[in-house]
Amino acid sequence: MKKPLIRMTVTRAKRNPVKGTTTFYVDSETTRRKRYFVQRITKDRKTQWFCNCLDFFNRKLPHVHTNTFSHCKHIRRARRAA
Ligand SMILES: [Zn+2]
Repeated sequence: MKKPLIRMTVTRAKRNPVKGTTTFYVDSETTRRKRYFVQRITKDRKTQWFCNCLDFFNRKLPHVHTNTFSHCKHIRRARRAA
């Protein structure tokens, strides 16, 4: 039987001490009390997103011939909430 999914609540960190960097906490969709850290880093007018989940780690090689990364579901969720 499939496990019911948990709502992926996005919380924006209250303190973002590093200029250009915003941190979001995204609840795990499958594991209770687990959160991922998503960071939005804006530098030289370019924005990059990072997440500490395994999915993002496995995807983080840029697409062939481009500079873009494919994003995990936590980043997609944080982007919509940002
Ligand atoms: Zn992620």
